[in-house]
Amino acid sequence: MPRGKKIIDYCALCGKEEKLSFEHVPPQSTGNKGNIQLSNFVDELDNIDNPHFIRKYGKIYQNGVGYKSLCESCNKTTGSWYGSDYKSWKQQIEKIRKENPDNSSELPETTITFFPLRVLKQVLSMFISVNRGKFKTNDFEKMKNFILSKNSQRFPTNIHIYFFVLTKDSPFEKQTPIYAMWPYSILDKAAYTFSEITWGGLGYILTLDEIKLYDNKYIDINFFSKYTYDQEISQDFVFPLKRNDLINLY
Ligand SMILES: [Zn+2]
Repeated sequence: MPRGKKIIDYCALCGKEEKLSFEHVPPQSTGNKGNIQLSNFVDELDNIDNPHFIRKYGKIYQNGVGYKSLCESCNKTTGSWYGSDYKSWKQQIEKIRKENPDNSSELPETTITFFPLRVLKQVLSMFISVNRGKFKTNDFEKMKNFILSKNSQRFPTNIHIYFFVLTKDSPFEKQTPIYAMWPYSILDKAAYTFSEITWGGLGYILTLDEIKLYDNKYIDINFFSKYTYDQEISQDFVFPLKRNDLINLY
């Protein structure tokens, strides 16, 4: 659909029937502009299943990736409450990543000064846009209240958001809407239900149904909700590095 066309539909966040605005995911200010090639987990599975066919490399977006997903009011409020602090978090990590181009498993310990609750809310709102209408109502209501109430610290306990930093050779920017994958081990009782966003060197995996990734290559950022909206902290991190391909989930 042409980006300039006005469409009336349900806002993916507040649910009101409104004229929807184009929501850049991630925010345009974090480098989401120009031509972007966007891949997803399903493309990768197809490439593995059919190695002799033409490989899928993802769709090309012009002028950044995003969706007509939010009403103008939600787009503006979430942008002004969380957007610039998300940008600052990303820039600090990007800097340490650029300074250590040869590292392959982790970045050296570094102090990041940031607003944890704002970063978590921005990341969750990106997942809401990527997954328009795909979350279960119960889960969605909790996510919506958490994002639309600036000061809320009630992050849904059955959801986890994991963070990692991408290696330099990671192939693509990726956004995968909720996908259920049956694990290899029969000891695992449930499918992994997850969604992912890897962008600009930063990767996030959202899991539902209390599914936890035990791989120490991920940082569970749910704890960001311990802090209030106005709390800025300085915390030391050793960021794990991972390629943004299938190994993410094993
Ligand atoms: Zn809205």
